[in-house]
Amino acid sequence: MVSEHKIADASFESLLRIFTVPEGPDSTLTRIEEELSRNLNQFLREHIVAEEKPLKEIEKDFSNPHIPEAPEFVSEHTQHLMDTLVAQSVHTASPSFIGHMTSALPYFLMPLSKIMIALNQNLVKIETSKAFTPLERQVLGMLHRLIYAQQDEFYQQWMHSAAHSLGAFCSGGTIANITALWVARNNALQARESFGGVEKEGLFKAMLHYGYQGLAILVSERGHYSLKKAADILGIGQQGLVTVRTDNNNRLCPDDLQLKINQLKSQNIHPFAVVGVAGTTETGNVDPLRAIGEICQKEQCHFHIDAAWGGATLMSSTYRHLLDGIELADSVTIDAHKQMYIPMGAGMVLFKDPHAMNAIEHHAQYILRKGSKDLGSHTLEGSRSGMAMLVYASMHIISRAGYQLLIDQSIEKARYFADLIQSQTDFELVSEPELCLLTYRYAPDNAIKALTIADEKEKTALNHLLNELTKYIQKKQRETGKSFVSRTQLNPARWQGLDTLVFRVVLANPLTTRSILHSVLQEQRDIAQTATQLLAQINQLSQSIISSQA
Ligand SMILES: *Cc1c(COP(=O)(O)O)cnc(C)c1O
Repeated sequence: MVSEHKIADASFESLLRIFTVPEGPDSTLTRIEEELSRNLNQFLREHIVAEEKPLKEIEKDFSNPHIPEAPEFVSEHTQHLMDTLVAQSVHTASPSFIGHMTSALPYFLMPLSKIMIALNQNLVKIETSKAFTPLERQVLGMLHRLIYAQQDEFYQQWMHSAAHSLGAFCSGGTIANITALWVARNNALQARESFGGVEKEGLFKAMLHYGYQGLAILVSERGHYSLKKAADILGIGQQGLVTVRTDNNNRLCPDDLQLKINQLKSQNIHPFAVVGVAGTTETGNVDPLRAIGEICQKEQCHFHIDAAWGGATLMSSTYRHLLDGIELADSVTIDAHKQMYIPMGAGMVLFKDPHAMNAIEHHAQYILRKGSKDLGSHTLEGSRSGMAMLVYASMHIISRAGYQLLIDQSIEKARYFADLIQSQTDFELVSEPELCLLTYRYAPDNAIKALTIADEKEKTALNHLLNELTKYIQKKQRETGKSFVSRTQLNPARWQGLDTLVFRVVLANPLTTRSILHSVLQEQRDIAQTATQLLAQINQLSQSIISSQA
């Protein structure tokens, strides 16, 4: 190192400074803060490089396992972060990145997050959060009312009641789903007679006492993988997560649900919970919630709705009806970090009955004392940040009517994109959008014609080639860095359940224009033309199938 170069030392004085005063006016960090606040989108565009660097290369920047012995200047380190980390991150807010459920954020959340972080409140207990606790309870009340629409007196009675809770705020849909099923399990195996309840005596004794051979949770084939984690950690076992058939629109079939429940009961396996999905992760479809709710009422199972992604639709009076029957649920998961445009780490689970969460109540001496309003006595997580503040702020700044505009434009944009895809001769719409999510693939006209008439073997071969092409296009598009769609595998009825790779698009970003959608298709078409060999194979096989049938 050159001698003029200033070296930071590990002095206590400089440590005190980093805890108290900001960086000087010409520091890198100050400059970045100014850039960020002048134009967020421009900042992201300028500092995230579009071209993809191989992950192997990126890993080289992050391969030193030693904790540094000497401190670095903030500016120096900030520059290092800009070069190695920010530059190689994903531009999730880009209007042409339409593959993720978490997208652009409104600007006001940046400075508000700073306040939240500066305050660093811990929502586990009132002593470390004070007004944040009633604020979080109010947010839960708002979401509860959005789903269950109880009278105002209901909320006055329960929202701030120490011994009750309308739900739990948590880091995301996974924890929310686990919490809901935890409550359902404990209620299904609650204390009675000599038995102290599953939470005290464990699953083995609960099974002996209740005389069951096992427990089951039912969900459609399109259920989110977090439910598998829930089944695992709650001791149900992944095999206890029973899948129910879906129809051509990826919605759970109520008849099959009833059938599966009957089968389980005849084997003395207790189906204690059914999960309906309101907005599946892969296709965005909504299960027939009312029909499922009625079966649950009859069978006395806990009805949970996983509306992690689709729940925000309730704020649109235009499209709320798509979630008809949601009020029949005993519990509902909603992720604010998806269609409510909140930064990640904002999930919620709401319970219809304010007493429901007593089934998972935990107390400790130094914290969460009985009768306290501490939120931590009803949450799976311990220490938690004040994220609810951002949901609260967005509800006020955007308002219900504003969210309706956001939801409506995204659903209508998805409809527009679906029609656009269908009007092309070389694209196939695979799943129709119900909310703002759809799937499709690149498939030339004659390939579709050939698939329709091919025999089993030819069909599999041709579909395999189309899958290769989808994979190629999606990967190339991502690497080029101009736009991004995600990819998943479906088994469409149109092709008799063949494993079909598809592009998956989520149109939540309000900055995504129709012309961007046109260019996404054009880019995919152009990329397809560069797969000369694959295209030739597809064309050849399609021609031969068509001519052999003629
Ligand atoms: C995203 C999602 C989840 C999981 O939520 P996380 O916030 O990622 O933990 C669960 N269910 C559905 C339907 C989802 O879309």
